[in-house]
Amino acid sequence: MQNKITSILKKENLNREDLILLLSANPSETELIYKKAAEIKSNHVGNYTYFRGLIELSNVCTKNCYYCGIRKGNTKVQRYTVTDDEVLQVVRYALDRNWGSIVIQSGERQDAKFIDRIEGLLKKIQALSSIKVGVTLSLGEQKIETYDRWLEAGATRYLVRVETSNEDLFYKIHPKDKLHDFELRKQALKDLQKAGYMTGTGVMIGLPYQTMGDLADDLLFMKEYDIDMCGMGPYIEHEDTPLYRYNDVLLPVKERFDLTLKMIAVLRILMKDVNITSATALQAINPDGREEGIRCGANVIMPNITPVKYHDAYNLYKGKPQIVAETDEYIRKLEEQINEAGDEVGYGELGDPLHFKYRTEP
Ligand code: SAM
Ligand code: SF4
Repeated sequence: MQNKITSILKKENLNREDLILLLSANPSETELIYKKAAEIKSNHVGNYTYFRGLIELSNVCTKNCYYCGIRKGNTKVQRYTVTDDEVLQVVRYALDRNWGSIVIQSGERQDAKFIDRIEGLLKKIQALSSIKVGVTLSLGEQKIETYDRWLEAGATRYLVRVETSNEDLFYKIHPKDKLHDFELRKQALKDLQKAGYMTGTGVMIGLPYQTMGDLADDLLFMKEYDIDMCGMGPYIEHEDTPLYRYNDVLLPVKERFDLTLKMIAVLRILMKDVNITSATALQAINPDGREEGIRCGANVIMPNITPVKYHDAYNLYKGKPQIVAETDEYIRKLEEQINEAGDEVGYGELGDPLHFKYRTEP
């Protein structure tokens, strides 16, 4: 099998069967895959990791995804929304440390009050600095007019995870209704690209009944949709969600972790110049999980800069790390680990995905 992996890694174009074989590699073969991914990362995007300060703006959500701890139907959650002043304070923290970029993530809302609020907040964020602040939004599916308004107000990147590219599996993990529509989820990616955003997607890895074929299809989906950025992480169960009833068919947590690293590495091999985030959910399984992701081809880390008093309430899954990123000690340690993984931190740079440049410039 080792020979087989070596010959796949020499190929220019990988097909579905190749991807399945890579994802099924044993530990010694996996090292070859990581090595190849690291080499491609170094040659195509450089040995830099970019920090994006993550603000978990609100856990108020109109949706009911079966896997998510802050779904509307979970009545145990205490709902919160971070104020504009608090957001500006933590953005200032990120700018003072020369990170250059932030991510605003939230439960999904499409009402006028929310749309106006985000627009106003984006303008205030850009007014904080004479240099453009890189702002990624992760606020779910919206109308095209909303994407346009938020882009105009200062956002440049947008993340909408498709969660899985298998329609049947999508409807096993979401209700089948107008709010949770597979076609609309995919359409959002097209709309965002058309609007001019650097566009990202991603999937959860280790979902109940997910196969290697599904994961290979997820990678091919990202290629087909020509995405610029990817954030994918292990699925981690939450006991107050409907998907928890499938707990006994899940892969062991360690296998979900290892499979996520393989997905990162294989995506780097497949899409050489995209930005890949080393997800927080990796850290929930292994405290050094995100640094492992960097070693396998990822180049973005999102330290959580949400004010600490809100951390407990943004509880998406079991064991979500309640790390206080607002300490220089924590960041220093993170930087040390990034250096050990062979990267430098890309301070003072936006770290935009090169793929976007090549996709949009003639
Ligand atoms: N509401 C927006 C959306 O769904 O696009 C953004 C926020 S949502 C909390 C961000 C991501 O969290 C989702 O795309 C999903 O992949 C991830 N997530 C939610 N529950 C999870 C779980 N139990 N395990 C792993 N990831 C989870
Ligand atoms: Fe809401 Fe996003 Fe969670 Fe779905 S994944 S319930 S849209 S916060």
